[in-house]
Amino acid sequence: MAQKLIHEILPVGMLQCNCSILGDPETRDAIVIDPGDEVDRILAAIAKHDLKVRAILNTHAHIDHVGGLRRLHEATGAPVFMHRDDLELYRHLDRQAQWLGVRPPAMTEVDQFLREGDTVRWGGYEARVLHTPGHTQGSVSLYLPFEEAAQKPMARKGEVGNEVPWLFAGDTLFAGSIGRTDLWGGSMPAILSSIQEKLLALPDETIVFPGHGPATRIGEERETNPFLT
Ligand SMILES: [Zn+2]
Ligand SMILES: [Zn+2]
Repeated sequence: MAQKLIHEILPVGMLQCNCSILGDPETRDAIVIDPGDEVDRILAAIAKHDLKVRAILNTHAHIDHVGGLRRLHEATGAPVFMHRDDLELYRHLDRQAQWLGVRPPAMTEVDQFLREGDTVRWGGYEARVLHTPGHTQGSVSLYLPFEEAAQKPMARKGEVGNEVPWLFAGDTLFAGSIGRTDLWGGSMPAILSSIQEKLLALPDETIVFPGHGPATRIGEERETNPFLT
């Protein structure tokens, strides 16, 4: 019986950051992307699917994406990953909190840096790291290339959930919009070239899960996104 990649999207916190949980239905290995807040809900979803979290990945170090890192790391023991270029931003979590008018969340150690071209593996799945600076200097997108997963014995074509590639774009690309670049470390030329050179280079059918709001597809954004045409 074919089983699909487990995918839960939980919009968490005041800014409704899309936290994603991706679980291998056979091995129960999982990753969590952007646990910004509401760690109890995230843990409940992990428990509901009986998953073992192997890595906690951050698309960037804005408070709405990293606020739950410490608690999730403590609860799961999973290592925390982010791009080195956002470490400085993470170190200033207290100032980000002040700016939003909220209490600063507890911080944690970053266990490993994500770099362009890295592959993160869990169960029979893998995600490729694309460094996509512009919204922040260390923004990354995570690409799940179905074609490559299809060559693996555990994930033959038709037996995994993602029959087309998936992209977790953080706050770089949204449905009909792009990330803001007026915050610390932001750059409009950088975000545009990140999107043009790295994201629009992906197949049109790629499903994009942005850091906020609804999913979209690369082809749709290529044709209709007013910031890119
Ligand atoms: Zn952001
Ligand atoms: Zn955000």
